[in-house]
Amino acid sequence: RLSDSYTDLARQYVDKVFEIVQSRNPGEVEFQQAVKEVFDSLVPVLAKKPHYIKQAILERIVEPERMISFRVPWIDDQGNVNVNRGFRVQFNSAIGPYKGGLRFHPSVNASIIKFLGFEQIFKNSLTGQPIGGGKGGSDFDPKGKSDVEIMRFTQSFMTELSKYIGPDIDVPAGDIGVGAKEIGYMFGQYKRMRGGFESGVLTGKGINYGGSLARKEATGYGTVYFVEEMLKDKDLSFEGSTVVVSGSGNVSIYAIEKAQQLGAKVVACSDSGGYIYDENGIDLSTVKRLKEVEGKRISEYVKEHPQALYVQGFSGIWSIPCDIALPCATQNEINENAAQVLVSNGVKAIGEGANMPSTLDAIDVFLSNGVLFAPAKAANAGGVSVSALEMAQNSARLSWTFEEVDSKLHEIMKNIYRESMNAAEEYGAPGNLVVGANIAGFVKVADAMIMQGVI
Ligand code: GLU
Repeated sequence: RLSDSYTDLARQYVDKVFEIVQSRNPGEVEFQQAVKEVFDSLVPVLAKKPHYIKQAILERIVEPERMISFRVPWIDDQGNVNVNRGFRVQFNSAIGPYKGGLRFHPSVNASIIKFLGFEQIFKNSLTGQPIGGGKGGSDFDPKGKSDVEIMRFTQSFMTELSKYIGPDIDVPAGDIGVGAKEIGYMFGQYKRMRGGFESGVLTGKGINYGGSLARKEATGYGTVYFVEEMLKDKDLSFEGSTVVVSGSGNVSIYAIEKAQQLGAKVVACSDSGGYIYDENGIDLSTVKRLKEVEGKRISEYVKEHPQALYVQGFSGIWSIPCDIALPCATQNEINENAAQVLVSNGVKAIGEGANMPSTLDAIDVFLSNGVLFAPAKAANAGGVSVSALEMAQNSARLSWTFEEVDSKLHEIMKNIYRESMNAAEEYGAPGNLVVGANIAGFVKVADAMIMQGVI
């Protein structure tokens, strides 16, 4: 049959380009993993739209438009000179200026930045906002550094990065290790380098100098809004359900807040040292104070809530029985084994608040056991969506109320859900949001690239 032969051609093409990716990016396992996850979804698209193959669209989309890496020298409080590595990948600008966060974490390397930047292309496309894909960061570890050290480091980082960014060129924001404080220091330094107040150059800014209300809450709230839609389709809801949320950073805290507002009992959260389990439900005000104000470890929680349990090691959190699991910590935090434990404990839904928190094997376990699965690039797109709304407010020189931004965010998340479900249906994988999100995000970017010529 004709359609079978197109499918064979498409599969051969995908395999061929994946081999190119492996040979051109040796050892970059996270980047290869992110590419594989997307490619596995695209065979039916390429079979239906063979002109994508002729246009070498996959070869083009896996190669960043630009990968910048630079030296970041800085002086610590003892007067020693330190050197870290800085990165910015400007991955794809087919539908708008590069957009994506900066991550400061010792694990950062070219592979991590490229996996995040690659994901960002499709995530940003799904938001329906005019933003391309980018990402950056450094292997600098903010843990244990003084405020002044963090300022000196971020100023040095921005001194170099400022040459490559701008409100219509590339708009960074936060990610792990980069919050409002770091964005503030970077904005101040950018302003000095440029000699002008370009408010749209960074998002996640403070409210008093061009930031958007609800940006802080956006990723966590957005993840819960997305999962709520997914549950609703199956006559399920957060109301009365038991939820486990990993992490205790910005994404996690606001996922917990929204899940609690919707009537869920959130029994656990974690940091890189371990997790807490509170069968009465986590007291979020304690977590917020410990993490947002005092910068303490999550283990401190049990001192104030003696009924709660602290367990060292963060991966054990997935052995807690729950209806809904929201991985909001980091990449590959759920492996095949953890996924199997979640399934055997009766988990009904997974919502990925972090970027690529499930390994490919873990995703297979969830999908083959009928667990509702909300993939990161759809479920955590709320953060970057509100970043795009922040850019819009900056361009218009006005600011919207919390309610306005929150309701736009809610609409965007519902749209992403609907578009992903529709794409999954159209391409023969009904209900599979991994396939649906990848296809819906990809097609828009691919078409824009083709319309703009061989770029
Ligand atoms: N770092 C976030 C993400 O992974 C937000 C990026 C942004 O707001 O630009 O999508």
